[in-house]
Amino acid sequence: MKKHICLLEGDGIGPEILAQGVDAITTAARKTGHELTFAKALIGGAALDATGEPLPSETVETCRNADAVYLAAVGGPKWDAANPEKRPEKGLLGIRKSLGLFANLRPAMLMPELAGACLLHPKTAAEGLDLIVVRELTGDVYFGEPRGIIMRDGLRTGVNTMLYTEEGIRRIAKVAFETARLRRKKVCSVDKSNVLETSRLWREVVIAVHKDYGDVELSHMYVDNAAMQLVRAPSQFDVILTGNLFGDILSDEAAVITGSLGMLPSSALGDDGPGLFEPTHGSAPDIAGQDKANPLAAILSGAMLLRLGLNIPEAASLVENAVRQALRDGFRTFDIMEPGKTLVGCRAMGQKVIENIGKAY
Ligand code: NAD
Repeated sequence: MKKHICLLEGDGIGPEILAQGVDAITTAARKTGHELTFAKALIGGAALDATGEPLPSETVETCRNADAVYLAAVGGPKWDAANPEKRPEKGLLGIRKSLGLFANLRPAMLMPELAGACLLHPKTAAEGLDLIVVRELTGDVYFGEPRGIIMRDGLRTGVNTMLYTEEGIRRIAKVAFETARLRRKKVCSVDKSNVLETSRLWREVVIAVHKDYGDVELSHMYVDNAAMQLVRAPSQFDVILTGNLFGDILSDEAAVITGSLGMLPSSALGDDGPGLFEPTHGSAPDIAGQDKANPLAAILSGAMLLRLGLNIPEAASLVENAVRQALRDGFRTFDIMEPGKTLVGCRAMGQKVIENIGKAY
């Protein structure tokens, strides 16, 4: 079967890591009888430089015409001083909105091969960690109105509005329960309902949606406690369901305790239309162009694209197993380097993965 993918390389290490991801998913798809075609489009700083816009309309069009969108990362110091409308990150928020993406799925898993890089106490790490944060993407303080820096009672005052509709909560809750059904059937909904009205509505709606998912266990936790429990006892979590702001922070926390940002994939899904698949990390301008970046988060995002975006789970497993094998064989980029392992760069790590995909079966 032929599938079409829109590639958004973005900035910094984006082009380097995405090149490895594209080779890996092309090889895995071919092995399982599928052909992938690609079209590149501009986003972020690269798009600003070329067109003056962080998200040109042609990019939105190219994404909409694809079966899935594969993004690397945007941003960098070159564009930091730009006005808020002309910042690379606007491109990212814009494409999520244009594609109607409202659910961000971010897995955090401790691979046994990388236990040494885990930041947790060895006793806690030994209990393992395999969770997924389901974060709402379209509501909350990032989009709620009114917003701005205003004058109030003669004082300059910053205003943002935490805003959720019942429907917005219902659809993300469904994604969390459906995701849990494919895993260990546990959802922990994280809110701040002791203080926030938005959270009280959140909890009420999540409980109502749960009535259709009797086979899934539901618990609730305040966000401050969740931040602590992620470090103290992360093995208790299967699916963490949360809003945009809390999810932004908790998913980074969950991610980083596993070792390196360079290992963590993510996906953003909507009701229909293409999903967006991207590594969790940013554009790492400090190491861009040096062939040092870890391409595994991008490659594993490619595996999510194959599984969730194109429904080719067998190709996704090929990629994931090939990554594990490269790590088992002792290859490490600098960010996950340990004594006794072999240091490789971005291209060489990508090649190891592709060789392993080639050897499979
Ligand atoms: P970052 O994730 O780019 O980098 C943080 C640290 O992690 C850096 O030291 C970097 O070298 C390292 N790192 C990140 N990815 C790595 C990889 N694949 N391999 C090895 N090391 C890696 O975050 P930052 O420095 O806060 O932000 C840099 C730029 O990226 C900013 O412009 C920011 O706005 C942008 N950003 C974009 C996204 C995105 O596109 N989704 C996400 C976060 C930050």
